[in-house]
Amino acid sequence: MASGLDQSETKFNNYVALITALKLTKEGLEEYVNIAMKDMYKKISNKCRGYLDCRDNCSKMHVANFDKWCDTCKKWREEIALYMRNKKRISGVHWNKFESMIWSGGDKLTAINQVANVFVHECRNPMVSVTDDFSSIISLLENCKYFSIERTLLLNVREVRNIYFAHNGTFTVEENDLVKCLDVLSGFLNNRSLQANSKCKQTYKKICDLKLKSKRENVIEISNISPMVYSLMRLHHDKPTIVLERVDDIISNKHYTFVKRKPYRRYDILLLFICFFCYQFIMHGNLTDDIEDKGNSLMVSNASI
Ligand SMILES: [Zn+2]
Repeated sequence: MASGLDQSETKFNNYVALITALKLTKEGLEEYVNIAMKDMYKKISNKCRGYLDCRDNCSKMHVANFDKWCDTCKKWREEIALYMRNKKRISGVHWNKFESMIWSGGDKLTAINQVANVFVHECRNPMVSVTDDFSSIISLLENCKYFSIERTLLLNVREVRNIYFAHNGTFTVEENDLVKCLDVLSGFLNNRSLQANSKCKQTYKKICDLKLKSKRENVIEISNISPMVYSLMRLHHDKPTIVLERVDDIISNKHYTFVKRKPYRRYDILLLFICFFCYQFIMHGNLTDDIEDKGNSLMVSNASI
């Protein structure tokens, strides 16, 4: 029978496996969401063709006073609203955060982000990509009619994230709960809308592998994430909310350099040391040669005297 320490270690490892699965899911969805948003943007843009550029940045200047919005921003808002699954949600958008004059800015990332973020519940920054954050992606898939993923699947994914990660200050997960979570995530990635995307398909297979306890030990992503979560827990042992925030950053890749270790870093330092010692050795050799040369010439000159 496993000891208490072994059991808590196993549950912590399960927690890390869940974080890894959420991170993989988020990364697996990025390409699909980006392609979809680019296409939706193009469709809206085509319908708004012929309108002049906005000069007032209406969403910022007039916020919800839509009568004052210019014709261009009115048209864009109207077309964006057609994609809102729940019509009432459009009136809950915090327009002051958005830059409506960017909407018509063409097929640029900033314009696409500004449109896509209208569908993200309580969007904090419309300038950043929706794919930068796990919850934002799920919110977009829920609220935007461009996507037709079953609502129950999305609700289950949100529950997995919230119950077992975001509101879980124990940093542990039971084995049966982990398998249940992985079932939800793999089922979601394998649904009709996502299974045609090769990245989603690859991620689906990776999540399925995580269900097998024997395979988890060899998953490189788990090996990378585990020490980071462990050191965060030690560093902020009395502040679980900070740990959860930092772990959320790991899932969302907000601190990429922190997440991904540089594999050749130590070799770089070693190479630097070798170069330094070679330089010292050569310089020392030159110095010795110089002294010897000077010594020889002194001897020659002494002999000639
Ligand atoms: Zn305007």
